[in-house]
Amino acid sequence: MASIAVIPGDGIGAEVTAEAVRLLELLRGEGLPLSWRTFDYSAERYLATGVALPPGGREELASFDAIFLGALGDPRVPDMAHAREILLETRFRLDLYVNVRPVRLLHASHTPLKDRTERDIDFVIFRENTEGPYVGAGGFLKPGTPDEVAIQEWLATRKGVERILRHAFEAARRRPRRRLVMVDKHNALRFASEIWHRVFREVAKEYPDVEARHLFADTACLLLVQDPSQFEVIVTDNLFGDLLSDLGAALAGGLGLAPSANLNPQTGKGLFEPVHGSAPGIAGTGRANPMAALLTAAMMLEFLGQGEAAARVERAVRACIAEDLVTPDLGGSLTTRAAGQAVLDRLSKGAA
Ligand code: ATP
Repeated sequence: MASIAVIPGDGIGAEVTAEAVRLLELLRGEGLPLSWRTFDYSAERYLATGVALPPGGREELASFDAIFLGALGDPRVPDMAHAREILLETRFRLDLYVNVRPVRLLHASHTPLKDRTERDIDFVIFRENTEGPYVGAGGFLKPGTPDEVAIQEWLATRKGVERILRHAFEAARRRPRRRLVMVDKHNALRFASEIWHRVFREVAKEYPDVEARHLFADTACLLLVQDPSQFEVIVTDNLFGDLLSDLGAALAGGLGLAPSANLNPQTGKGLFEPVHGSAPGIAGTGRANPMAALLTAAMMLEFLGQGEAAARVERAVRACIAEDLVTPDLGGSLTTRAAGQAVLDRLSKGAA
């Protein structure tokens, strides 16, 4: 029996997670060995109690086979203190160093690019998830004065860089064209990016069957828009991965369709969350697209050894998209609930 900790979180995170949980309920009803427990860790709870995660909360989350998170973020907590404690700390403590962000165009009409088909946009970004400029190292000198100085450190360790590169190379081996692109900016970031470039060249030698090349981050942005079909696996650091995966999401229909997983392949721990945030602007309106959350649930099912169920969920999502059973972000008129229900209907009718 696979155990899942579900954290709906804030804003549309809670709305789309409700659809993912209905999906899990349907699959469990069919006999899939799944159990889950819901945790109300959120801005609401933080504001009410002053506590983001109770003592022992992180250890408890770590005891589940997988964690599913909607999204965290609330304008009433402007410094995102609760999100930092619940999500960022969990990512760091569980050492979830692989952030997998697949970019797949499910329907040609959803890309803003001209004359592109589903075959042209199908790649995966492996984003390093525990280092880079997001480790929170730095500080202010003379704050609040005209001489104020802000320093933000960029961390890159040999171990951290090597393990994500190896993971991406292994993944590239399983792709049809065995193509990998490593993205950095070592012409400008002479230290943190240089180690990426150096270790990349070393590791690439061990994978002669993988066609590996390097791109600067700015060139990668250009080529992703000009000709996304050349990409199959992209591996990069935390910051560039953050930016490139939003660009990738835009190429493939927007944030409402972008799933992601945070993994530690050594410990077997995984945290699954859609790429999008809590989108307070549309929270409560029923306009949130639940597909990213459902595709994220599919990634989690695959991780939990339920590959067949994962493939069925993906087919059901594709079928709904092909029939325009979608929310307003994709030009449809369905609510979050109705779009989620459309996917469930296709699944239970056996159409998927
Ligand atoms: P942050 O990324 O910092 O959490 P945020 O929560 O405002 O900020 P996102 O949720 O990432 O931002 O999304 C930005 C915008 O994209 C939203 O305001 C919304 O318009 C749109 N968007 C994101 N996710 C969805 C979704 N699932 N369905 C429909 N629109 C979405």
